[in-house]
Amino acid sequence: MRKIGLMGGTFDPIHIGHLVAAERSMEACGLEQVWFIPNAGPPLKERAPGASPEERLRMAELATEDHPAFRVLDLELRRGGISYTYDTVDELSRLEPDAEFHLIVGTDRIRDLPLWHRIDELAQRIRFIGVDRPDDGKPADPALMPPLPEPLRERVIRVPMPQLDISSTAIRTRLAAGLSARYLVPDAVLGYLTAKGLYRHDG
Ligand code: ATP
Ligand code: MG
Repeated sequence: MRKIGLMGGTFDPIHIGHLVAAERSMEACGLEQVWFIPNAGPPLKERAPGASPEERLRMAELATEDHPAFRVLDLELRRGGISYTYDTVDELSRLEPDAEFHLIVGTDRIRDLPLWHRIDELAQRIRFIGVDRPDDGKPADPALMPPLPEPLRERVIRVPMPQLDISSTAIRTRLAAGLSARYLVPDAVLGYLTAKGLYRHDG
């Protein structure tokens, strides 16, 4: 079985928190590759994204193109509408019947797991990798998992990573205020979003 990591997100924009989470998960779980999947309509998020789907996809490509084991898939953007992980896994399992998929999720989203579309079936088909993420600026306690019902908890593998208090929201806010996102996003992404004037008040 090939172990493949899936990293879903809005990636508006992609930042080093996403990349470190993917790299550490790859190492810890022996993943062969990690596939980054920008979503079309995130089911549990209500705000309108700042960049277009094409721009979010392009930034994910720029962020990952120098990594031999990272790929970017546009299947959720092509499918459009609300992106449910269940549908994505269904489609990917048909393309790669021999893959064992591991979905990488930050602790903020692990908490919502019970609310996900068709979660019981999803949890039978894939494993989840839970990576630590600071909560409201406070470091997450690495000994504590967000509370989950027992059958779901068993499907989550905890992978430690340095706690990076970085979010796309905070990056958008900085850029809108005319501040820098250098070192929070890869240089290639910074060059792209600067050239396009993304997330600026006047952009
Ligand atoms: P936004 O602020 O727009 O919600 P975000 O930074 O949370 O953006 P998403 O695209 O929502 O990024 O997240 C995609 C996935 O990456 C989620 O599973 C999220 O928990 C995880 N993630 C994002 N940032 C970090 C981080 N700093 N450390 C660990 N995991 C992260
Ligand atoms: Mg988020």
